[in-house]
Amino acid sequence: MRHARIAIVGGGLGGLYAAALLEARGIQDYVVLEARETFGGRIMSWPDASAPSVDFAAPETVAGRFDLGATWFWPDLHPNLRQLVDQLGLETFRQHETGDMLVERSRTHAPSRVDGFASAPPALRLVGGMSTLVEAVRARLPADRLVPGWRAACVRQQGGHIEVRSRNGLGQEALCLVDRVLLAVPPRLAAGTIEFAPALPDALLRRWQACGTWMAPHAKYVAVYGAPFWRGQGLSGEARSAVGPMGEIHDASSEAGDAALFGFLGVAAQVRRRMPEDALLAHCRAQFVRLFGDRAARPKAEFLKDWASDPCTAVAADENPDVGHAIPPPATPAEAPWHGRLVGVASEWSPSFSGYVAGAIEAARLGVETLCAPDTAASILH
Ligand SMILES: Cc1cc2nc3c(=O)[nH]c(=O)nc-3n(C[C@H](O)[C@H](O)[C@H](O)COP(=O)(O)OP(=O)(O)OC[C@H]3O[C@@H](n4cnc5c(N)ncnc54)[C@H](O)[C@@H]3O)c2cc1C
Repeated sequence: MRHARIAIVGGGLGGLYAAALLEARGIQDYVVLEARETFGGRIMSWPDASAPSVDFAAPETVAGRFDLGATWFWPDLHPNLRQLVDQLGLETFRQHETGDMLVERSRTHAPSRVDGFASAPPALRLVGGMSTLVEAVRARLPADRLVPGWRAACVRQQGGHIEVRSRNGLGQEALCLVDRVLLAVPPRLAAGTIEFAPALPDALLRRWQACGTWMAPHAKYVAVYGAPFWRGQGLSGEARSAVGPMGEIHDASSEAGDAALFGFLGVAAQVRRRMPEDALLAHCRAQFVRLFGDRAARPKAEFLKDWASDPCTAVAADENPDVGHAIPPPATPAEAPWHGRLVGVASEWSPSFSGYVAGAIEAARLGVETLCAPDTAASILH
């Protein structure tokens, strides 16, 4: 059994940044429990050197990293993230959008070229992929507080403390005894996969269940090439398609390494689940050939990440496409016994940027402030 004052459940950006904020306040008595073997959650830049167990297609030949989850941030819209990126000294570059865009309207007509456009406000990417942000935050935390590979299954109040019971991939159980829990797991996932005792109020649980996990229904296909050959044809790499399997396609080239294209699959999660991955990969490759020509047929590496079938992100309800960013539900129950002792810090709880990367850091800041406020019964400083 492990003892700590605070358990942070979830080691995505929200959980890790909450840990960094606790450290900044001189609070070091915490533990971060992460279900996956790697940290970062919906931020995942591939190839990931820290994930030896994941079987990526030909990663050793790839120069640069490519985002399978979050890709862009918008400094004009998300100043808190801009500030953190600057503070951590991370390099950024603009999404490549120069050139024409392709539109594929039907199977029977060739894709048409239309004028491309530059996103306004500008969309930026991080050199090295969005995971550099996670890695930079993580590098400031003592390694012994970070516990990957343990999934919290039950959070129970017991004799004035809170027991967090978790399991690893071998089915072994571990117990952590704490005073407070920062829940860095999206509300819907927490409501559907973690048992709380005493139970959370019904109305709150319903709000958490109704709050869609941003982008959880989606899947991304990435194809890596030695050169951005589409740019030579005056194309930006951007495309929209009513044919599929990808509906929205972008240039995903790394700043100094290999070139790449990626697309969001337009095929519903239920259909994807029934298709062999090889078949889906072949359809994605064929679509890139239709759009960008024969050179697209032979990527040096490719990867498909289906977030809807990842149990560390999605539950069955997330198979339905997003209808927009969620209205954030309350991050802590209004009353005892959980008020202030259990506080949500995943992005969906962010009042300003719910679902975005910027939301994870806002929710973490607000959650840590709630936990440390001297005038509330919740204060960890008492
Ligand atoms: C395909 C895709 C594209 C995206 N694109 C963008 C983008 O371009 N820009 C943008 O701003 N945002 C984007 N997002 C959203 C962005 O990734 C998220 O807002 C952000 O990463 C959320 O961070 P988080 O820490 O709040 O949650 P998560 O990243 O979901 O972290 C939750 C963590 O909790 C862990 N966990 C789950 N259950 C348990 C448990 N029971 N016990 C212990 N650990 C558990 C998970 O493994 C995970 O590591 C995208 C997301 C996806 C999936």
